[in-house]
Amino acid sequence: MSRPAEEFISRRMASHRPAPLRKYGPWLRGPNIISFAGGLPDPEFFDHRGLREAYDHVLDTDPGRALQYANGEGEPDLREQAARMLTEEGYATEPADLMITTGSQQGISLIGTVLIDPGDVILVESPTYMSAVRAFGLSGATMISVETDLDGIVPDDLQAKINQYQPKLVYLIPTFQNPTGITIPAERRDAIAEVISRNDILLVEDDPYSELRFFGESLPPLASDPRLEGRAILLSTLSKVLAPGVRIGWLRAPAALKPLFVSAKQAADMHTSAIDQMAAAYYADQYMHDQHRLDPVRAAYRERCECMGSWIDKLFPEGTRRTYPDGGMFIWVGLPDGYDTDQLLGPAIESGVTFLPGSSFYADNPVRSNFRLSFCTHGTEKIEEGVKRLAAAIESL
Ligand code: PMP
Repeated sequence: MSRPAEEFISRRMASHRPAPLRKYGPWLRGPNIISFAGGLPDPEFFDHRGLREAYDHVLDTDPGRALQYANGEGEPDLREQAARMLTEEGYATEPADLMITTGSQQGISLIGTVLIDPGDVILVESPTYMSAVRAFGLSGATMISVETDLDGIVPDDLQAKINQYQPKLVYLIPTFQNPTGITIPAERRDAIAEVISRNDILLVEDDPYSELRFFGESLPPLASDPRLEGRAILLSTLSKVLAPGVRIGWLRAPAALKPLFVSAKQAADMHTSAIDQMAAAYYADQYMHDQHRLDPVRAAYRERCECMGSWIDKLFPEGTRRTYPDGGMFIWVGLPDGYDTDQLLGPAIESGVTFLPGSSFYADNPVRSNFRLSFCTHGTEKIEEGVKRLAAAIESL
């Protein structure tokens, strides 16, 4: 008797959907493809010299520590740097508040492990970051969308969904959201913090993009609102401001929960690579004090965002709507009703351009006329050519 291997798969894995970038993977690359699909930072801005110096320094000065097993909480030097950066952003943080993660994606996954029982409800934005939905889904959570407008989730609907579903937590990307690029303004943040604290649920704030601001004044993390003391978990990462391949992020959790996160992390991967953490700590100390370090990246992304936006405005069908991000990596486009952007992907790929259809970003009730364009990967010439190809593909539908 031999059962097919598939019969051994867990129920939660069987209902797990692959990431859209995996699903569409083979078509999204290729020499002649202009990709607006992935949120890939432009490798031109990876500071490989600074990183080489950092890894050399670590291996020259403390190879025994860098190459040895380490503790799950994370390297003290890196937690110190991370605490300093969060404090500078307006969220007073001590190293003891932090645990280093293998990218913020691991933080999301560990939130599922530590906080979620099968059937627990998590409220999310509509649209939202689907890799979070997929990770939460693996712990058995049910995700429910909260109505979201151009200023983020709508506080009245947040209250209504809390009344209806008794969620355990709400997962938000308040600054330069993925996929919309929207930032929740101060007044709306205030109203959201009020609803969360009044109902005594948890906030999970995912903040990978806030350093990539090219317009306007920065806002402190929503999690820093004093009403959310002891009720907020914040995730940050070096992926968008250093390099995603380094896989370093951190999680700030209430004191009562942090030991459980460390324990869950140790069960998952013992600890984040010690050599990577030590190199990141050295790099942060040497280079990340400089507030202008990211200015060239911000200037390039701003130019690319404006270029993409203006070609969309010139060439896309009448009635098209789009977001006007102040930073981050994405523009969210809404074609007039009746368009189905899943149907657009085939003709777009044939024309040599890719994007991610809106249906990839909703926990429920997908809006198919929407889609996400990433403006960070290519320079303006390719962006212009890519938007032209896309406009032609839309016209061909
Ligand atoms: N959260 C959001 C909202 C993201 O967009 C991303 C990256 N696509 C992540 C988390 C994961 O980032 P990391 O590389 O730090 O795991």
